[in-house]
Amino acid sequence: MSKCSDMKLGEVYICEDCGLELEVVKECGNEMTEGTTCESQPCTLACCNKELVKKS
Ligand SMILES: [Zn+2]
Repeated sequence: MSKCSDMKLGEVYICEDCGLELEVVKECGNEMTEGTTCESQPCTLACCNKELVKKS
C-alpha cells in the first residue's frame, strides 16, 4: 500500500500475516491541515508490523 489517497472505494486491503481484511467504504478526502495533503505526507496503514497489501 502506498498512500491512502490511492485507495479507492470498494478496494480490499489485507494483512498477509493474520488475515485481517479492510474494505474502503469512504475514500480519502486528501485534505488534512491547510497546505498539507496526503499526497505530500503519505499515510501508512499497517497490521502485524507490516503494510497492508491490496487484495487482487
Ligand atoms: Zn495482521
